[in-house]
Amino acid sequence: MLLVILEHENGQLVEAAREALTFGRVLAEKMGEDLEAALIGRDDDDLVEAAGQYGAETVHTATHDLLTDYGPDAYGSVIAQMVESLDPDAVLSCGSDRGNEFMANAAARLDAPFVANCTDANPGDTWEMTRVQWGGSLLEDATLTADVPLLTCGLHAVAAEIGDEEDADAEEFDVDLDESVTITMVKDRVVQEAGVTLPTAPVVVGGGRGVGSEDGFGQLEELAALLGGRVGCSRAVTNLGWRPHADQVGQTGTRIAPEIYIASGISGAIQHWVGAMASKHILAINTDKEANMVTKADWAVIGDLHEVIPAIIAEVQSRKG
Ligand SMILES: Cc1cc2nc3c(=O)[nH]c(=O)nc-3n(C[C@H](O)[C@H](O)[C@H](O)COP(=O)(O)OP(=O)(O)OC[C@H]3O[C@@H](n4cnc5c(N)ncnc54)[C@H](O)[C@@H]3O)c2cc1C
Repeated sequence: MLLVILEHENGQLVEAAREALTFGRVLAEKMGEDLEAALIGRDDDDLVEAAGQYGAETVHTATHDLLTDYGPDAYGSVIAQMVESLDPDAVLSCGSDRGNEFMANAAARLDAPFVANCTDANPGDTWEMTRVQWGGSLLEDATLTADVPLLTCGLHAVAAEIGDEEDADAEEFDVDLDESVTITMVKDRVVQEAGVTLPTAPVVVGGGRGVGSEDGFGQLEELAALLGGRVGCSRAVTNLGWRPHADQVGQTGTRIAPEIYIASGISGAIQHWVGAMASKHILAINTDKEANMVTKADWAVIGDLHEVIPAIIAEVQSRKG
């Protein structure tokens, strides 16, 4: 059996968990095994149903007073206990910050190897996998020999796709936890913003040093709002203090995967590109036709973004009536 550990937030499966179930469906088929899932800290019919839609046959639910919110030690301990008593053939989760954190914690407890951020995995006596390194700029082929392979799939390695929409059975899993797992726990949450977030926005309007100033981002905000999207930026921009780090796209920022990324005044350095390359389409606006972002984009407008963006805004407004 392949066991997929589900990451959830605010009573919903996160997109990366849906991707992990989609990745897991293919992997379970290659293994010739059933796909089962684990829900830690919730016993919730909606989440079990969602996991079933993505192909999980059984969902093991683990609840406990010490699992009311996320904690890497608590999660790691539950996963280790599940490995010991459910005896899965492999365990998979999503390569989000949390997914990699709790899987690494479980691996340490089990004294087992863990392979993070896989884009492909082929089971066998020795597993062969490909995984992303260095923020996505390097693909590494790895082999793994382990009693129970523990792995995560890279973010956006696959698009989340609903499976046969079968009902999943929920099975309670008894966990044994003590206070030692509460060293790091989420105690409080601050909601920073409402609406679409950068990693999930269908449209991202990105601005780089070419925007010229903090105020210059006003036009980008206007275009993003018109298209139901979000503003992103390069590290040059956060270094200059024009935008917060939360808006930064790239290796040391956020990975985005919008339907369209409008990259304006951004040269497309490799560290930026690795955060933007999962975009379905890219429109580059740049004065330099040789800029890396221009050569990689699906479409480019060579010109001053302070003329091009107002022209796009006017066109969208006139089409919207
Ligand atoms: C370890 C490390 C990690 C990093 N992580 C990241 C990261 O996560 N994200 C990131 O973005 N960078 C990151 N960087 C920095 C990265 O290498 C680049 O320096 C940065 O992305 C450049 O930002 P930029 O494209 O805005 O600026 P520039 O490279 O200066 O490009 C500005 C672009 O604007 C164009 N332009 C200028 N004026 C206009 C105008 N009026 N209209 C249209 N176009 C115009 C220019 O032709 C140019 O192409 C990292 C670097 C290191 C070393």
